[in-house]
Amino acid sequence: MGTDYLLRALLAGIVLCGTSGCGSEPSPRTVVIVVFDALHAGHVHHLGYERETTPHLDRLAEEGVTFLRALAPTPYTVASTASLMTGLVPQRHRVLRSFGSHLKPLGVTIAETLHDQGWQCFGGTANANAGKLTGITGGFDQWVEAYEGKGSGDVPFLPRGDGTFVHMVAPDWWVGHLGEILEQRDPKRDAFIYLHMLQPHSPYAPPQRLLSQFADPDYISSWSDEEEPTGFRAGSTSPLVRANKGQIPMTEADREYTRALYDASLLWADEALGGMVSLLRERGQWDSTWMVVTSDHGEAFWQHGLWGHNDQLYDEMLHVPLVVRAAGDALPKGARVPGLVSPMDIFPSLMQWLNLPLVPGLDGQPLDQAIHGAGVPNRSMVLQTNGNRPEVGRTAEGSKLIVGRAEGDGVRVERYDLAQDPMETAPLAGEPDQQAVSSLVALMGSLEGYIASEFQRAEHLRTLREHLKLQLAAELALDQAMGVLGLSIPTGHAQRELRAGAGDQADVSALLDALGYGGDTEK
Ligand SMILES: [Zn+2]
Repeated sequence: MGTDYLLRALLAGIVLCGTSGCGSEPSPRTVVIVVFDALHAGHVHHLGYERETTPHLDRLAEEGVTFLRALAPTPYTVASTASLMTGLVPQRHRVLRSFGSHLKPLGVTIAETLHDQGWQCFGGTANANAGKLTGITGGFDQWVEAYEGKGSGDVPFLPRGDGTFVHMVAPDWWVGHLGEILEQRDPKRDAFIYLHMLQPHSPYAPPQRLLSQFADPDYISSWSDEEEPTGFRAGSTSPLVRANKGQIPMTEADREYTRALYDASLLWADEALGGMVSLLRERGQWDSTWMVVTSDHGEAFWQHGLWGHNDQLYDEMLHVPLVVRAAGDALPKGARVPGLVSPMDIFPSLMQWLNLPLVPGLDGQPLDQAIHGAGVPNRSMVLQTNGNRPEVGRTAEGSKLIVGRAEGDGVRVERYDLAQDPMETAPLAGEPDQQAVSSLVALMGSLEGYIASEFQRAEHLRTLREHLKLQLAAELALDQAMGVLGLSIPTGHAQRELRAGAGDQADVSALLDALGYGGDTEK
């Protein structure tokens, strides 16, 4: 009796559990978020686009829930991705621009929260604006930046055919990477996986086999110049940028070819999504996987005069797909949910779906409200661009108000009735709500000030960094002299950080740490 009995009982229990699986041990959960960069909902087949650009995403939508009106809070990567990760509006997380310095969002991220709950977190980005640079990688046990280097090492780059390389990884690289993650993950632990592809983002360089579905792969533009001797071709973004500035003529044929390049890039990204789903199926992990597919912003094709994203707040730059496929029967299959939602709703929704404690103070709202018919009452979103002359806006169900600068310091106001005019072709006449306008004018003014201060801060940091480097060099010299004299060097002083890189790459915070100004620098 006593301990022997207990031990035997425990051992028997272990053996029984080992053979029967005990039944009570739930299989580890997997959450995969796949971000297609710069995907406007208007190019997604199951959302009404005529071309079959998204067969795998369409199939996923049949297995899950499609949100018909998901809006990114900004038309650019930096702030929108930070909103997805933190569930906060850009005005709150403050990761507004990648200019100049390393940022860290105010608030916690999905990965930090899940990591604290014991999840293993894997992530990676093919877009520098959605990675280490913007400080959103906290909580990830493993994170890859799949754009570094010059085509050597682990991350292959796309050859352009003229001896140069397009600096982006092909979508199928992510399938292989997911395979590695599934090999590495602890089979007993829940796993969170964030994969941020670049495609269909420019440069549009889809394989010919896909491009030929939508256009003549050998298309040659009617113009060429010194800068672009071969005219407009796949993989080349500069003619599009120059066309935005009115520097080169873009014919309708060029524009149609551009749309085809984008659509083929999307088809390429979608193929990778299919590969990821197949992989999860093959590994027997699909049934316990939650998969979320979305984008960080849209892409314009001259609907309002411009190509690309960043500069305007019209639908084509903000409206993104959002599909959630649940593990098991947790969510309805094939549901199509109207109502204004956003990728920043993913964070609180996941917490709810995974039965984890909700993080207080989030701006994102659980998507369950929209799914179960109640809609998201009185939902409105503040919108902003990131140019030096930012444009701001507010949208609610059926309406949008945009405020920007007119010539000089004047204010330009546009209002749209989205029910009557979803393409935002004719601004409403009449007096806008002055209170709504003045609150946006105030936001615009504060953003202008923020951006101006960022430039000043970057310059200040550059000077400060130079100063700290000199100070560190002096401290290190003194430490060395003390060593020569046989005197002990103060602990926590610069010497031990010498290896950590006081060289040209060190940023201000590393230098402050090395000089002992950074608080507890013991690692
Ligand atoms: Zn982006």
